[in-house]
Amino acid sequence: MATLYRKYRPQLFKDIIGQDHIVKTLQKALENDRLAHAYLFCGPRGVGKTTIARILAKAANCLDAKNRPCGKCKNCLAIAQGKFIDLIEIDAASNRGIDEIRDLRDKIQFAPNIGKYRVYIIDEVHMLTREAFNALLKTLEEPPAHTIFIFATTEIHKVPETVISRCQRFDFHLGKSALVEKSIKQIAKSEKFKLSDDVLRLIVKASGGSYRDAQSLLDQLSPYLAKGEITLAEALKILNLAALEQLIEFIDILKSNDQKKAISYLQNLRERGVDFAEFVNMLIAKVREELIEKIQAGDDLSWHQITLHRLIAAALESKSSPIDTLPLELAVLDICEGEGGEDIKQESKPQQDAPSKISEIPKDDLAEDKKIESKLDFKEEKKEPAKTDQKKLTQISADQRKAIIETIATKNKTFGSLLETTEWILEGDRLVILAGFNFHKDKIMEKKNYSTLKSEVENAMNCEVDLICKIKGKEDIAEDIGSVFF
Ligand SMILES: [Zn+2]
Repeated sequence: MATLYRKYRPQLFKDIIGQDHIVKTLQKALENDRLAHAYLFCGPRGVGKTTIARILAKAANCLDAKNRPCGKCKNCLAIAQGKFIDLIEIDAASNRGIDEIRDLRDKIQFAPNIGKYRVYIIDEVHMLTREAFNALLKTLEEPPAHTIFIFATTEIHKVPETVISRCQRFDFHLGKSALVEKSIKQIAKSEKFKLSDDVLRLIVKASGGSYRDAQSLLDQLSPYLAKGEITLAEALKILNLAALEQLIEFIDILKSNDQKKAISYLQNLRERGVDFAEFVNMLIAKVREELIEKIQAGDDLSWHQITLHRLIAAALESKSSPIDTLPLELAVLDICEGEGGEDIKQESKPQQDAPSKISEIPKDDLAEDKKIESKLDFKEEKKEPAKTDQKKLTQISADQRKAIIETIATKNKTFGSLLETTEWILEGDRLVILAGFNFHKDKIMEKKNYSTLKSEVENAMNCEVDLICKIKGKEDIAEDIGSVFF
């Protein structure tokens, strides 16, 4: 399927689009003749890890002293044709066994046959068994001078630290839209395809930053493009991307904070019999994809984080909601409130009276969330003097907890409702508020809410209270997803 990908696979460093930080470092190492013995290429699929690994293998064995790789000498040509005896590629995904690595270890002591270096490219290295890793590690401890290992992985967290620490590591990034677009435009030009801007944008968006996926999408369109320009609607149909287009469109509406449009969009989906559970799952996956891109680009994450928390809660709530679409609708209303929303404003919102449990989930204040990471950040800013007579909290009864929450609820109904869902325990003399979700915790740790809670507890208990908030249990989905990212 990926014929264009193979046909246009970069053969030289200068052909590579993106990953500049990696290409420059490798070229510098080549100029100074300081190649490492083990490289670790990590990053998402389809962003050039094995392509650059092969170019590096070529450069290491190129016969042209000045311009490595030249792409013209017999070694460069042999590698390009996949016939170079000193380049050994192992796909760990299908070759998990220790035997392959043992074999590698047996042969590694011998000098390369033709080239200056014997290069091992081990793709999806995280798939190796523990035994294979151990065998590999022994080799890595004392790599022969004529050997270069290039490991590639999409899941760096599964690679043992002992292996990582022996490699020069390069982190590959998803392609920025402009770069993926550039790569597609280049191929379209060479193939003499007429590509409308709409279709080009669709390919770039659908690729999610993977050059290989973008090229594979173009590949699927190529029989049609060979006959002439195609419309966006035709491209969507051919690529079966209607669902994706829908998601992208819907996310744009959410970002524009247009509640009315968002709700009518959902109604429309409902009328067309779209499976909401499936839609929410796809929506979560898509926003997560964008979040990962944002992390890699170092952009602001708050919208994506909060939106994901809300969507996950909606997905969970919908299973027990009397109307299965309601939690998503409420979440969408919340998301569309966007920045600058306030708790007080929230209290008059109709969704507060909805029967679903999600109505108790308060709206996060985006600006505030970002500022407040932990209690310590604002402890010093606390303006009102603590009601303290140096006594520490030693116990708190269920009735006392209930009374405190009721008092808070008279001032802020939403926050009171949220607190009802929490458990309170004492750890030493510290009061720990156990919240069900990350975004509940965030809400509790917001400056205003935290101060209210702390002073109400101190008032009621007549002593100084050390108060923190934690997430209940480890099974929390929001937490799990968080740990996948970071
Ligand atoms: Zn060469």
